[in-house]
Amino acid sequence: EIINQLEEIDFKYNSQELMPAVVQDYQTKEVLMVAYVNEQSLNLSLKKGETVFYSRSRQELWHKGESSGNTQEIKEIYYDCDQDTILFMVDPAGPACHTGENSCFYRKIAEETEAKAEKMMEMQQQAQSIETDFKIDQVVDFLYDLILQRKEERPEESYTTYLFEEGIDKILKKVGEESAEVIIASKNDPDQELVYETADLVYHMLVLLAEKGITPDQIREELKKRHK
Ligand code: AMP
Ligand code: ZN
Ligand code: ZN
Ligand code: ZN
Repeated sequence: EIINQLEEIDFKYNSQELMPAVVQDYQTKEVLMVAYVNEQSLNLSLKKGETVFYSRSRQELWHKGESSGNTQEIKEIYYDCDQDTILFMVDPAGPACHTGENSCFYRKIAEETEAKAEKMMEMQQQAQSIETDFKIDQVVDFLYDLILQRKEERPEESYTTYLFEEGIDKILKKVGEESAEVIIASKNDPDQELVYETADLVYHMLVLLAEKGITPDQIREELKKRHK
């Protein structure tokens, strides 16, 4: 049966034409080595029942194991779809590689491809930006807690203490002023001033909330409700 199949194999140009031959362990399916065969070495392989290649470096027939003793008993031979590659399924008498390794493919070039590494980087950056967003949200809570602390302790030379000492009318006046400044900023130079003035407004809003005993959580709850 094998011999019939062999006739189909087309050594395209002449009998010296080389074909790659993959050698695989018929039990473990481990890829052991890749070598070359020509028509003569393939015929010899079939005759002996052991792999015979053509050595390109020595330019001669090469019966695998002839000096090492590590012959490869042929169990099955396959050829590929376009009849230009051979696959030997073998039972090896010893390591296939002259280094003593079981397989010639014992050195890994890479586990990670560039594409994979890039994807990992992207995911890390995404995770980082999520973390940063979380921190920005925490800033509001942090600032509110600080404002409550000032309201309680009233340390001297604190602007927040000054606002609480002056009372609700002063705070409302500041909220009004800062709102106006936000409007002016967005008309003037929104890229720079608007950030600054919005921060001012948020701060004064938080002072107002603290004065009235309303927490940022209540605002968050109200905003969430509106999404339903
Ligand atoms: P062997 O056929 O195992 O007796 O080895 C004879 C010579 O062929 C070695 O000294 C190596 O130069 C070469 N050789 C053996 N096995 C391999 C292999 N798997 N890949 C490349 N060269 C080999
Ligand atoms: Zn194919
Ligand atoms: Zn092919
Ligand atoms: Zn090797």
